[in-house]
Amino acid sequence: MSRPSIVWFRDDLRLADNPALRAALDRGEPVIGLYVLDEDGPGIRPLGGAARWWLHHSLASLGERLRERGGTLVLRRGPADRIVSETVTDAAAGAVFWNRRYGGPEREVDAGLKAALRAGGIEVSSFAASLLFEPWTVRTGAGTPFSVFTPFWRACLALPGPRAPLAEPREVGGPHRAPASDSLDDWELLPTRPDWAKGLRETWEPGEPAARRRLREFLQEDLANYDRARDEPAAGATSLLSPRLRWGELSPHTVWHETVEAGAGGRFLSELGWREFAWHVLFHHPDLASRNLRPEFDAFPWPHLKPTHLAAWQRGRTGLALVDAGMKELWHTGYMHNRVRMVAASFLVKNLLIDWRRGEEWFWDTLVDADGANNPFNWQWVAGSGADAAPYFRIFNPQLQAKKFDPDGHYVREWAPEHLGEHPPDPLVDLGETRKAALAAYERVKSAS
Ligand code: FAD
Repeated sequence: MSRPSIVWFRDDLRLADNPALRAALDRGEPVIGLYVLDEDGPGIRPLGGAARWWLHHSLASLGERLRERGGTLVLRRGPADRIVSETVTDAAAGAVFWNRRYGGPEREVDAGLKAALRAGGIEVSSFAASLLFEPWTVRTGAGTPFSVFTPFWRACLALPGPRAPLAEPREVGGPHRAPASDSLDDWELLPTRPDWAKGLRETWEPGEPAARRRLREFLQEDLANYDRARDEPAAGATSLLSPRLRWGELSPHTVWHETVEAGAGGRFLSELGWREFAWHVLFHHPDLASRNLRPEFDAFPWPHLKPTHLAAWQRGRTGLALVDAGMKELWHTGYMHNRVRMVAASFLVKNLLIDWRRGEEWFWDTLVDADGANNPFNWQWVAGSGADAAPYFRIFNPQLQAKKFDPDGHYVREWAPEHLGEHPPDPLVDLGETRKAALAAYERVKSAS
């Protein structure tokens, strides 16, 4: 009797270069794709609103692509360990395959499930697919994890290079009768009351085919300008691949190899390196989103939170053109250019003196690329409390940053044109005074270290 194989899709919503899917196909039995919406498993961070929107569309695309190839995608909701086991029973499956996750609670779920399924006689295999270098394989000479990017990346580049991507399967034969599936619409991942996703729909087309198109277009049209223009938010010079990598519609291996074949891209590849580094740090510090990596920052005397200041920042009403433009771009599209993310985050932490965790939470809810490692890692980097972080005393001046990186005001004109009118809004706070206050607060950190 045939005992189907289950491929448990997670942050790898693709058919190409998917080692778990490849292993299931090689096993030669019918294949069942499974996605579990686990919103309240122990320690699992619930997805933000923009991420839920992306997930809906990416799952719709994946399901369609599996069906076109004779396969199926079963959708189920609940704590992953219970739901995967139940699906194995319902499908009378003989094997389960998945690509690894690297967050602490996720690893615990996966390890527990692997042991339980194996104890029940089910074959289980997991694969490296979402990172170029497994976090535990990159070590300093002393055998410890890295806390500084440059030597980390050098050590990565000294390892055997990322494997070549696996081809996309033409056929994915499913079982005669698939186990019951939820309907995607019933998960209500899309906003309805109100429907705030218009800007997301106008900006993005989630799913693997669009991801591959964007990679090709970037390599052909934009990569040559990347090093020169990547810091200019109006230049459109970056890849916009972050949500694709977040959801695994493209593997980093595919991006890596196609970039190398395109014949350039050292700087661009090192940005992929920052993604690797963020996950390396998260792997070794699973509570990166809640705890200062540098404990002396626990002594930082955050003043009492002013909710009006936080709300002004969230809505792009700080009176600082580049910050407001960025926050509006984020609200409208679920994305913000990296340079502007740094400036907006610095303004929140070092001019409004609001705890970086409040900013991280807002980004988590509003970014389509909200990423369990990249988001807290970069927030801590800006705040000064993180790995290889910007020194706290280096405080961006949002007005100078606008002059330098958006000198003709193209970006501000697009997202916050009110700043270019006759009566631009006043800054919410005085940059000089708040800078001084931030530096004074930082003295407490210094004396705690
Ligand atoms: P490109 O410049 O084309 O870079 C290519 C890829 O490299 C990106 O898609 C991304 O996967 C990776 N990358 C680039 N810069 C970084 C970086 N600084 N750290 C880690 N990976 C990087 N990125 C996310 O993917 N998810 C997040 O939740 C996220 N939150 C951030 C929060 C703050 C406060 C800051 C300052 C940055 C954050 N970033 C995050 C990093 C960066 O801003 C985005 O990855 C980048 O803007 C995405 O645009 P792109 O794909 O065009 O980048």
